[in-house]
Amino acid sequence: MIVGVHPLAGFDKVLHYRVPEPLRASVAVGTLVRVPIVNTMKLGIVGEIGAPKDFPIERLKTVAQVVYPFPALPPDLLQLARWMAGYYACGLDSIIETMIPAAVRRGAGLKQEKLLAVARKLDAEEIAALEKRAPQQARLYRFLEQQFRPQAKGLVLARLGTTAAVASALVKRGILREESRRIERVAYADDHATGELVAAQPHAPNAEQQTAMTALAASLAEGKFGVSLLHGVTGSGKTEVYLRAIDAALKTGGGVVFLVPEVALTPQTVARLRSRLEAIAQGQRCVVWHSHLSEGERLDGWLALATGEARVVVGARSAIFAPVQNLKLIVVDEEHEPAYKQDETPRYHGRDVAVMRAKLAAAHALLGSATPSLESFTNVEAGKYRLLQLTQRVDARKLPYIDVVDLRIEAAKQRGLPALSGKLVRAMQDRLEKREQTILFINRRGYSSSMLCRSCGHVEECSHCSIALTYHRTDETLRCHLCGDQRPAPARCPKCAAPDIRWRGLGTQRIEESVRRVVPRARIERMDTDTMSKKNRFREVLSAFRAGKIDVLVGTQMIGKGLDFPNVTLVGLIDADMSMHIPDFRANERTFQLLVQVAGRAGRGDRAGEVIVQTFTPQAEAIQFSRHADYAGFAASELKVRKDFRYPPYRHLIHHLFRGPNPDKLKFFAEQWAKLVEKTLGDRVELRGPSPSPIEKIKDEYRWQLWYFTGAVTKVVPQLAKLRAEFAWPDDITQVIDVDPVNLM
Ligand code: ADP
Ligand code: ZN
Repeated sequence: MIVGVHPLAGFDKVLHYRVPEPLRASVAVGTLVRVPIVNTMKLGIVGEIGAPKDFPIERLKTVAQVVYPFPALPPDLLQLARWMAGYYACGLDSIIETMIPAAVRRGAGLKQEKLLAVARKLDAEEIAALEKRAPQQARLYRFLEQQFRPQAKGLVLARLGTTAAVASALVKRGILREESRRIERVAYADDHATGELVAAQPHAPNAEQQTAMTALAASLAEGKFGVSLLHGVTGSGKTEVYLRAIDAALKTGGGVVFLVPEVALTPQTVARLRSRLEAIAQGQRCVVWHSHLSEGERLDGWLALATGEARVVVGARSAIFAPVQNLKLIVVDEEHEPAYKQDETPRYHGRDVAVMRAKLAAAHALLGSATPSLESFTNVEAGKYRLLQLTQRVDARKLPYIDVVDLRIEAAKQRGLPALSGKLVRAMQDRLEKREQTILFINRRGYSSSMLCRSCGHVEECSHCSIALTYHRTDETLRCHLCGDQRPAPARCPKCAAPDIRWRGLGTQRIEESVRRVVPRARIERMDTDTMSKKNRFREVLSAFRAGKIDVLVGTQMIGKGLDFPNVTLVGLIDADMSMHIPDFRANERTFQLLVQVAGRAGRGDRAGEVIVQTFTPQAEAIQFSRHADYAGFAASELKVRKDFRYPPYRHLIHHLFRGPNPDKLKFFAEQWAKLVEKTLGDRVELRGPSPSPIEKIKDEYRWQLWYFTGAVTKVVPQLAKLRAEFAWPDDITQVIDVDPVNLM
């Protein structure tokens, strides 16, 4: 038996190996194996059985090990990997590495974990002696003595900052005992039983939900590839529809992937989904998958799916690669979310990959959103996706009223620009009196966006990147939000030494401070990546907010996604213009989505919600259409513009970035390259550029960019890749190709 293997060794090639007799039974396409390459052993995936004709088989090396006795990549995933390599212009090896978690690739033992426990109790005298002679050992001993159960060795050692040698010394003397045991690690297990169970009960579906469910059940029974777009206003009960569809899929004996944006994976939602899903799956485990899992948790979840022990996974973007067997349904919640796009290689879009995986597995894809991406919407119009609609909130609750405050008038009234308009302040005071809650959104962390000298007009920029530094008042620093560089905030202008420094623009810290001034009695919390860097802080703040211990929550978009707080009756958006006036053709779409989603956080309980949006451009379409959550109106008007300019979704966009230390050289090579592409691919691709990127320098590297517009990605990308390999690039220019880019800065 001969197999073709894709090694995970930093190059993209197929190598052939002989499979020795004892391993044959456990080798199939998709199996993870260990193979010799030059003088080392590398992991690889079996891509094919057999060898090309006339292959010189005598000199073949042999497969050394089969890491797992079942395919690590089911056939649909291997096919998906091949499609992704072609579509996203990257090596198959990098995609396989993304698909198989590091913990799995390391071939860690099957659910085996080393445990440490006290074997022989020491008396006070012995402890004192140990303390003196080997304080590290004493500390480890005392820690373990206080535990009821044996403890995971790795965790204990890491926690005490000590080494395996310290443990071995105690084991050798018979004081500690080491054991291996199979452990079930369940992510968020501690939250499993807490609260939220009421919400976990199934609801009797309303008429619109029922229609959607019936349609989905029919598709699932058919067992063919198809895509449904569930367009449901905020609070219309989309989750219930997802859950019923999952139920139907499991009943056909199939497996399910349920994707949610990473930020929506709070313990509450996870606990809620888990308990419902496990009830649906009749006690079978539901695997949770996100970026904060420990290696052990990830490996366990992966194994449970790969062996068919579990059939449902709920997780963020990368869960689309979970080795679910016999896949029947993929749900993508909040399908419009930019977070589904990965911003490092491979730069894939989780939603688009989900649709492709569904196609390869003959499964159904269910995309849901209150504000579908225009890509998905046009796919409905083109007849490729089926539209399912929920036009009403459950229990016929009203959509919140959106009140637009014109900051031009406000600025004139208050002589200068306050962060909070009079209307917003009065509304907050009113909520405080009624003991209802407020959320304020501002899309910038820090205190203010830039430091401006009133004397000479100097704006302090990062010395490594071409953007203004952000002022952080809590520690009096200026920080770069791109490279993280920071320095003390100056008291005088660094250029002309005048003391007339002004802080321009708003950030979360400044809003927090303003709120403290205008509603001094309110309990206020700020939630952004600065305050949330500690591991459990996000969860703590959210549960305090849910428990009513916080009156006003100030935060970045981070708190905008998928959270459901019944007592929130006021939502303020401090600066709607911030997302609108950026050089991105999707700026309007983003703003519309942001406004509708943010407004959707208000009035989820029995009380009606109010939304106050502050802006300098109240006439903007994104704002006007969002006032009545008029998705169809917005889509029609925005798509007209996109069509005129032939922007996505009417054509695909590919971004080519060139980075390097020398801007002149960068320009020269980018221009030479553009000429070559124009000559060879000019009939298939429309080029724009090359030109300097909007942010010309990041971390001391200059940036130039080139855009390709095309209708045929799968034809153009391989040709670009081929040309690129032949072009004589200097060593100090790095390039990145991003197909269907989401972040254009
Ligand atoms: P969406 O995701 O569409 O914004 P959710 O799925 O979060 O909405 O549902 C909003 C709320 O309505 C949730 O608390 C959910 O439990 C509840 N809900 C869903 N369906 C029904 C129903 N048929 N009857 C009553 N309440 C429902
Ligand atoms: Zn910087």
